[in-house]
Amino acid sequence: MNFIETRGNDGTRPEAISFSQAILAPMSSYGGIYSPESLPDLGSDFLERHVDADYKTLANSILTAFDVDIDQAVIDEALALYDHFDDPKNPAPVVRVKDDLFISELYHGPTRAFKDMALQPFGVVLSSLAQSRNEDYLIMAATSGDTGPAALETFKNRKNVRVVCLYPDGGTSDVQRLQMVTENAENLKVIGIHGDFDDAQSALKMLLGSDSFNSKLTEKNISLSAANSVNFGRIIFQLMYHIHSYLELVRQDAIKLGDKVYLNVPSGNFGNALGGYYAIKMGLPVEKILIASNENNVLTSLINDGVYDISDSSVIATTSPAMDILKSSNVERILFDLFGNERTKELMQQLDTDKCYKLVESELAELQKIFSADYCTDDEGKKYIQEAFKDGYLMDPHTATCFKTYETCRDKALKTIIYSTAEWTKFSPTIAEALTGEKGSGDREALKAIAEKAEIVIPDVINELFSKEIIQNTIIDKTEIEKEIMEFLA
Ligand SMILES: *Cc1c(COP(=O)(O)O)cnc(C)c1O
Repeated sequence: MNFIETRGNDGTRPEAISFSQAILAPMSSYGGIYSPESLPDLGSDFLERHVDADYKTLANSILTAFDVDIDQAVIDEALALYDHFDDPKNPAPVVRVKDDLFISELYHGPTRAFKDMALQPFGVVLSSLAQSRNEDYLIMAATSGDTGPAALETFKNRKNVRVVCLYPDGGTSDVQRLQMVTENAENLKVIGIHGDFDDAQSALKMLLGSDSFNSKLTEKNISLSAANSVNFGRIIFQLMYHIHSYLELVRQDAIKLGDKVYLNVPSGNFGNALGGYYAIKMGLPVEKILIASNENNVLTSLINDGVYDISDSSVIATTSPAMDILKSSNVERILFDLFGNERTKELMQQLDTDKCYKLVESELAELQKIFSADYCTDDEGKKYIQEAFKDGYLMDPHTATCFKTYETCRDKALKTIIYSTAEWTKFSPTIAEALTGEKGSGDREALKAIAEKAEIVIPDVINELFSKEIIQNTIIDKTEIEKEIMEFLA
């Protein structure tokens, strides 16, 4: 399987690269990203052959279909990390909530958010590649909450990889911050920034583009890679749970093999949705993918009107912060797959210069064959959390946004799989407010309030955070980041 560039080739890079190369150096010509040249066709009997397969077996078959250039021993070690999920046989359980509504719970990993589904195995793959090539890598991440803890967790104490994670001090939940600042490993550095997530992100972008910073890294023989979902190494592990969830419905006798379903995804950077899109192209029977957003509803406008316009928007802080995104990176891979590299380059350059692009009618029609979209306000989300709780299901505010698309975007009475991307423990103040009406509590009080109301226990991994020693106590101005990183690398 080869990977090619979404904005075409500038002549300074190879025309096509392998999976391992795309993982190690994910940035490509003209600011584009790598995408598969073609997708494997799983064939008509793939689903049938895997009806009784456990998650790791299914995952392994998909990696084999992609013909990835990774040693089988490394793949086995990577997939073995699913053994640390709540149920090793079924890391992503699918729960029936009502007649035709199922929730695929992607948060049963070590940091209690869906980022673990892909980052856990990805950490092993990247570190093994770096070791086998005798190279050292630096992963830098700016996080508003979930990516940071999951990236730190997967890379901690792994060889040949160091991680620097920037977070906005005061801009994450207590649980998310504690998950990061209590991490104790020599290859990890967590830095709090005075400012908001945009400040952290723009500081990171400036560093990545700085010649002096890059040459300092080169002097030290350190290469940069990325752990966000522009890295295809994450996307490949996100295809799998869509196919797994479909097969779960078959196993639960909710559908027969070949029946179509809706996939319903709470979307930010579009990695989760892209995984679903690729699964369809590889043969998964899906009617449509329903894209749920919060009030940062750029994806809703793109899919409903063909317009991607961020010219006079700034990010709105919502109760589903992991979806507070204006530039949704993986949309580019959809544009590339549907319209080719020249058109993708044109559209993405318009977005850079005019902060806006518009699809022509035929392009919009293509997009709407696969996707439908709507957005959910914080108040609506709160109402959905309350209603689901009355029906006996406790969910987080990101998952809640999907109940809006479930209501407004389905033309057919088909079974629907909503993806739940975070455990209730990660966003407890919002949920506590929805359930008890009491506002403004910190995570600790909120967790207790929910546990009492729902008669459940707070998981140990969350409870223990509040008494763990704080290891990472660097909080600085963004002007000091480079100096801090160089000291860490020294
Ligand atoms: C990352 C994240 C999302 C958004 O997923 P994308 O793949 O970026 O679209 C949604 N919910 C939660 C809780 C997340 O952490």
